[in-house]
Amino acid sequence: MESKSSAQGKPLHLSSESRQIQARVGSPVHRVSMGDAWSRQVHPDIEIERRQPSFDVERLTNILDGGAQKTALRRKVESIIHSDPVFSLKDNYFMTQNEHYEAGIKKQFYLRMLAQQLGWLEDSQELLYAYRTILDRDFSLLPELHALSSGLKAMVSDFCTEGTEQCRRACGGHGYSKLSGLPTLLTRVTPSCTYEGENTVLYLQMARFLVKSYLQAQTSPGSTKRSLPQSVAYLTAPDLARCPAQGAADFLHPELYTSAWAHVARRLIKDSVHHLQALLQSGADRHEAWNQTTVIHLQAAKAHCYYVTVKSFAEALEKLDNEPAVQQALKRLCDLFALHGILSNTGDFLHDGFLSGAQVDAARTAYLDLLLLIRKDAISLTDAFDFTDQCLNSALGCYDGNVYERLFHWAQKSPTNTQGNPAYEKYIRPLLQSWRSKL
Ligand SMILES: Cc1cc2nc3c(=O)[nH]c(=O)nc-3n(C[C@H](O)[C@H](O)[C@H](O)COP(=O)(O)OP(=O)(O)OC[C@H]3O[C@@H](n4cnc5c(N)ncnc54)[C@H](O)[C@@H]3O)c2cc1C
Repeated sequence: MESKSSAQGKPLHLSSESRQIQARVGSPVHRVSMGDAWSRQVHPDIEIERRQPSFDVERLTNILDGGAQKTALRRKVESIIHSDPVFSLKDNYFMTQNEHYEAGIKKQFYLRMLAQQLGWLEDSQELLYAYRTILDRDFSLLPELHALSSGLKAMVSDFCTEGTEQCRRACGGHGYSKLSGLPTLLTRVTPSCTYEGENTVLYLQMARFLVKSYLQAQTSPGSTKRSLPQSVAYLTAPDLARCPAQGAADFLHPELYTSAWAHVARRLIKDSVHHLQALLQSGADRHEAWNQTTVIHLQAAKAHCYYVTVKSFAEALEKLDNEPAVQQALKRLCDLFALHGILSNTGDFLHDGFLSGAQVDAARTAYLDLLLLIRKDAISLTDAFDFTDQCLNSALGCYDGNVYERLFHWAQKSPTNTQGNPAYEKYIRPLLQSWRSKL
């Protein structure tokens, strides 16, 4: 065993095998075991999973961050935050509501001071892009930007909430424990479906844009190719009436599933517009007609968001041609995302006979095969997102995988287990003692 200093100055003992793995996957030493002296080694099961990653994990982290320099900068900022006791989450699970509130206010003020001292700016990358568009005085993209940001905010926060709850359930009873970090995460992500724009309301913002774009495509078909915004250009593109897939392997072609999503989104948008127009023609006022058709508009907006995400994912993959291993790992995720959506909404794909029952079966076969392949990459993909142990603050989600030891250690810190139990002393102990005296 060799010894090495961690970011916290505590010794980390690494087997030569661990060192080799770490050399391969980059430098994840900063993530290991939250400085817990008792947890000096990665759990052997997790170590085996990391032994032969199918891609360079550090490289994917860099891609996700937008470049190696950005990864380095992010890690630097994280290490400043994590090494400062003011930002420690260690006792978070054992604090009262008021203690949380006080700590939150303290952190907020402290962070502002720190940011000032370190010269950190408040501007985010996203805001810079938005300002640049406005300063260029080109407002033509604003309706599309408004629609896309509304719809994608709703879709992503819906997925985050569903995904977190699914992870919580996947961990069984331990997932329900606060120490897993999942209940806290779930409480944090659920309101994102409401704040910054309630999701249904946001989907309907996107739907208004879709109705306008569809009508524009119908009224001036000759010139629309140029004038329709890029994300809705498919409304005028040639459409297949039937999916050409002949077997499971065909469902792993991005062009195939992207065009399947385009077909369904187009049909649902067309349906929603026709329902709206039928009501208007029957004399309903515009507001009433819209209200009566919102359920269909919502469905159309969701399908469009899915289509945009699948299409953008597939296009991003094409840019990774010089990173074949990372590209393969991400391509499987893209396939999984597209097929998961198809299999969760089979009714929409079967409705007009675009997919047959046999094709849905083939898509399911492709999906199940993908799960086996992605399972092998699961730890590496998780590592690539580079969430620190301190940030996750989860006994189940630590880099070293020592789940039960950490649960046990953390449970011992709970005031319930350290300060005795007044109810036991007052009621149960005398009862037990009285039974004993009778025996
Ligand atoms: C944790 C949290 C933090 C917040 N922080 C802030 C903050 O810092 N600053 C701030 O200003 N606000 C804040 N809010 C408020 C938040 O912005 C609003 O709650 C949100 O915009 C939704 O508005 P509402 O509560 O009026 O709900 P409503 O708009 O009344 O929605 C209630 C229900 O009605 C449905 N609905 C509403 N309109 C339509 C429609 N046209 N068609 C069909 N269905 C519809 C919605 O889908 C929803 O199911 C916060 C909220 C939460 C939960």
